[in-house]
Amino acid sequence: MSHDSSSSLIEGRTGLWEIVIGLEVHAQVTSLSKLFSGASTAFAGEPNAQVSLVDAAFPGMLPVLNQFCVEQAVKTGLGINAEINLVSQFDRKNYFYADLPSGYQISQLYHPIVGQGYLDIDLEDGSQKRINITRLHLEQDAGKSFHDQHPKKSYIDLNRCGVALMEIVSEPDLRNADETVRYLKKLRMILRYLKTCDGNMDEGSMRADINVSMRKPGSALGTRAEIKNVNSFRFIQQAIEYEAHRQIEILEDGGTVVQETRLYDPTKGETRSMRGKEDAHDYRYFPDPDLLPLVLDKNWVETLRKGLPELPDAKKSRFIETYHLTPYEADVIISEEALADFYETGINSLKNKQTGPKLLATWMMGDFFAALNRENKAIEDSPVSAAHLAELVNLINDDTISGKIAKDVFITLWETQKSPASIVEEKGLLQITDTSAIEAVIKRVLQENETMVQEYKSGKDKLFGFFVGQVMKHMQGKAKPEMVNDLLKQALLD
Ligand code: ADP
Ligand code: MG
Repeated sequence: MSHDSSSSLIEGRTGLWEIVIGLEVHAQVTSLSKLFSGASTAFAGEPNAQVSLVDAAFPGMLPVLNQFCVEQAVKTGLGINAEINLVSQFDRKNYFYADLPSGYQISQLYHPIVGQGYLDIDLEDGSQKRINITRLHLEQDAGKSFHDQHPKKSYIDLNRCGVALMEIVSEPDLRNADETVRYLKKLRMILRYLKTCDGNMDEGSMRADINVSMRKPGSALGTRAEIKNVNSFRFIQQAIEYEAHRQIEILEDGGTVVQETRLYDPTKGETRSMRGKEDAHDYRYFPDPDLLPLVLDKNWVETLRKGLPELPDAKKSRFIETYHLTPYEADVIISEEALADFYETGINSLKNKQTGPKLLATWMMGDFFAALNRENKAIEDSPVSAAHLAELVNLINDDTISGKIAKDVFITLWETQKSPASIVEEKGLLQITDTSAIEAVIKRVLQENETMVQEYKSGKDKLFGFFVGQVMKHMQGKAKPEMVNDLLKQALLD
């Protein structure tokens, strides 16, 4: 079998196979308190220190819906271009597990708060693909069991129990691992822009169940297996690849894929069966009698819609149009809202609004990101302000310094946080644009290297770089490079 993660078809013994993937993403709602109780949602708290009587399901305790979580779900729905259902309903999904003290999870099966939506992903070749979203519903998280803390006992931490999750279900529109990862990254970016989920996969705030099936191109959907709770992009990629090949092998041997839940084991690089797939009625879903139907006010929803921030797609188009960035540059700068904000704060301080924005982007993505990466700093902790980076760009734009000198200025700027103009002044780095000063040095360099000048004139073009280097050296790198080039060419013609 041959295959790479971005192609959609896999060559098997019996011909080509197509992978079909649909995702159920669990995104933890950003909220200080839980979906139906006032207990804290803070990450990594002392075990069982964030558990109210409701979360622990003490008899007689009643859930009280957290309106902020509802607002977050509606905002998310609006951010994924979805229909908001003005009437929704909470259901009980019954199952027994030690980390679920109530014996049921409150979820929304029949009437989710958010209906159909979509998001567009950018593919490698620059084209876009629309991925349809079936629904988004609100539900509670369960607690966490630990089976590795004691030889005979299992431990339970209920801190997570009752935390609000948004389950976002996609249509089976994804066709390979690459698209799947792009979809998840796009979804995460939107959630982060909306501030409705922090998207931290390593803290479990965003996890994906991956449904995978195989079919011959053009045929009906095959039977899917669901890979539970994969929480890194790399593992998602690997799990899909493994699962696709596993299913092809079964199908090509004349077998059938079992609809089941599987787990991905990153150390072995394989998926294995966890449990057979329960049919929905096994959960004996029914409307939660403790909760009234959730009825939203249309005007409230419209107010939320109007208050949405500018989302990634809109920002990207605007940056390309207004600042003449390439799609790639725009992608990088809008990848986090804080980066985009930094960039636009810088834009405000630019003197040259024509060429400045592009140069500012180049500087951000070049030396600036390199420095942030090197020191493992987030943009929020950058020692260099947007205004100072823009000032550096201004100094290049108005010929005060060359791009090369600017690199040195940047290093000092990073270390001292002094203004670029004052660094240039203190270090005497002003660019030399005085024609006669440059010509004088050129004359000297050519006189000192007469034999090389002869060689150059008889065709050894490569020596040009040597002359440039010599002139620059005599001028401590401060001469304007374009002028040195032009004036040298002239001088060598004589
Ligand atoms: P369940 O809770 O039983 O898994 P859901 O409706 O919540 O059911 O989720 C079903 C998910 O599986 C959706 O993301 C859907 O796109 C995906 N899916 C459904 N059929 C297939 C299939 N044949 N191959 C791959 N994915 C599928
Ligand atoms: Mg499922």
